[in-house]
Amino acid sequence: MARAGRLPGETVTIPAAMTIPSRPMNFNPGPAALPRAVLERCRDELLDFGGTGLSVMEHSHRGAAYERAHHATTARLRALLDIPDGHGDAGYDILYVQGGASQQFAVVPLNLLPPGGRASHVVTGAWGERAIAEARAVAATAGGGAPRVVASTVPAPGDERTLRRLPRPGEARSEGGDAYLHLTTNETIDGVQFATAPGATMPDLGPAPVVADMSSDIAWRRVDLRQFGLIYAGAQKNLGPSGVTVVIIRRDLVEAGRSDIPTIFQYRTFARHDSLYNTPPTFAIYLMGLVLEWIEELGGLDAIEARNRAKAGAIYGVIDAFPGFYRCPVESGSRSLMNVTFRLPTPGAEARFLDEAMAHGMTGLQGHRSVGGVRASLYNAVEPAWADALAALMRDHAAKHG
Ligand SMILES: *Cc1c(COP(=O)(O)O)cnc(C)c1O
Repeated sequence: MARAGRLPGETVTIPAAMTIPSRPMNFNPGPAALPRAVLERCRDELLDFGGTGLSVMEHSHRGAAYERAHHATTARLRALLDIPDGHGDAGYDILYVQGGASQQFAVVPLNLLPPGGRASHVVTGAWGERAIAEARAVAATAGGGAPRVVASTVPAPGDERTLRRLPRPGEARSEGGDAYLHLTTNETIDGVQFATAPGATMPDLGPAPVVADMSSDIAWRRVDLRQFGLIYAGAQKNLGPSGVTVVIIRRDLVEAGRSDIPTIFQYRTFARHDSLYNTPPTFAIYLMGLVLEWIEELGGLDAIEARNRAKAGAIYGVIDAFPGFYRCPVESGSRSLMNVTFRLPTPGAEARFLDEAMAHGMTGLQGHRSVGGVRASLYNAVEPAWADALAALMRDHAAKHG
């Protein structure tokens, strides 16, 4: 067994000061950690929003006080993510919808699958499987062709040995005539993420517009959005609280969307009304605005990327330093920087590790119930000091039990 750089008898100190007395280090997969500064500001404004004497939650969504917060969130999102604002295929609308990313699994094909049309899907994990299941149901009832799996890299159920991975180059391409190609940029449960190398862009995915479920890696760094036709993301991982789902959609796709589906499911309804057609999730949109402001104050997406790389690097570094004790079930080039998944030698060893992490003030590390193991979710609001504390604990644990 590898024991990286430690002499017999050498003790390892786990920084006790990391354990903030009343608030655990939060590695929850979603809903997830929110920046402490955001929670404090929210607390301070909770009873009196902007000198109005009312909570933001108590304002009409048609009133000036809320509308200011609403449009400020949108302006921040557009600036921070550098979302193009041109016409047609040179611009994108920002929409706030409800129902979570799970609802988008159905709403995307409802809008973008024309009668007789077909979608292509790339499946790299559990959320992509959910997405194609919903697309099949929509196609069956809305007159589209069954979606085509262009690539699936998900190991068979019970196969613990085959590593999870991205498609190989050229393995996942749409064909001319496909309405769109759907993929999941970060598989939250499986720990597989596209394009994580510094400066990397998405692989060649063929001619059709790319629809991306970015729920767990939106805004993890600067990304050229023109690689995508539509992006959707529940806010509760990287952007804010649950309750709002962000849709970023190219304007020509809004216009091309079906108009024979219910008004409330049409993207154009949200685009034409700045997501104020009906009552939006006002509190969630307000709080997302505070999170975006916090990212700006940290130094924007470049600073967030550096933080995120350091956190993931700390954890993967320990996994790779103790290969006989920790095992990452994902190929090295496909590993997620948002959700680091790893196994210990036995389920009992995993339970012991999770207990010890809990005793050190770390929460949310249990792997998804469908796959087990350990998962450290390292979203934007997770502090680098927490990742360092987890890495130190992992080193200590491997030295003691490995
Ligand atoms: C969390 C998550 C979802 C599900 O989001 P809901 O808001 O619960 O519907 C879908 N896709 C990905 C990639 C996720 O991480």
